[in-house]
Amino acid sequence: MTNTQPKVVSGLQLWQWRHQAIQAAIATDVPVAEVDWLLQEIAGLDRLALRLESYKNWPQIQLKLALEDLEQLWQRRLHDRLPVQYIAGASPWRNFKIAVSSAVLIPRPETECLIDLAVTAANHSEAIPPLQQGNWADLGTGSGAIALGLANAFPESTIHAVDYSSEALAIAAANAQNLGFADRIRFYQGSWWEPLSFLKGQFSGIVSNPPYIPTSTLPTLQPEVILHEPHLALDGGADGLDCIRHLIEISPSYLRPGGVWLIEMMAGQADRVREILQNHDSYSNIEIHSDLAGIERFALAYVNAEC
Ligand code: GLN
Repeated sequence: MTNTQPKVVSGLQLWQWRHQAIQAAIATDVPVAEVDWLLQEIAGLDRLALRLESYKNWPQIQLKLALEDLEQLWQRRLHDRLPVQYIAGASPWRNFKIAVSSAVLIPRPETECLIDLAVTAANHSEAIPPLQQGNWADLGTGSGAIALGLANAFPESTIHAVDYSSEALAIAAANAQNLGFADRIRFYQGSWWEPLSFLKGQFSGIVSNPPYIPTSTLPTLQPEVILHEPHLALDGGADGLDCIRHLIEISPSYLRPGGVWLIEMMAGQADRVREILQNHDSYSNIEIHSDLAGIERFALAYVNAEC
């Protein structure tokens, strides 16, 4: 997008904008803290300068967006419920700043736990060679968050990240490049395991945050989610479990004996997911883990040796 608007403002101009934005946030029930977070991202201000308002006297502040565009997008935040992360074009996740656009789901804090669970599972495994090495898959990678987390946690592994959306893959690949993991993560367009058939039986683990919201529940989600985030990343079919069932069914032929199967799911799905895993016969040591809110959110299992 070519933009001829000036991107330099005076401290006073930005101070005025911030005050109006805060008032408008209060009036429309948008968390006020989003204004300062956005200004940290767009204007490079730190929290102290914002709190003390020391920037008010600065002659010039460089913005990433013209003030008019920022104002227009902020109006969309207030009135169209556009998520603030899509305005900033970034979201914090674990130790990364991950670039996002509306082509990808904004990575959620609870999803961060998947990486710690993968690390614990690999540390507890006695598989030889160790699970920390070799190939890991992030299926439905979106922004690439899980793939980046795995690459960081398992420095001796190669991560294979798959998404159906080419637009999402472009964002994920840019994130891998910018965060220094381009040589450790490979990207593939396609459906779940399909592009990885050349590595059947060779994966140490699969980690996924698949779409798991039941189709009929979608309209009840927050407007920020349902109006702006990609439905491909949310809609899990009639009972929300279509993709999880597929991943349970197909993964054993892709994983090494003892390999880790790990996914995120929705509140209320744990019993059913455990049951489907148990009925499959290929999995053992099935574990359900809660997120920090105490919601049973993650299912983990190991593929049996005889598979
Ligand atoms: N956790 C997301 C939400 O709150 C859903 C992500 C998913 O379906 N995988 O909307």
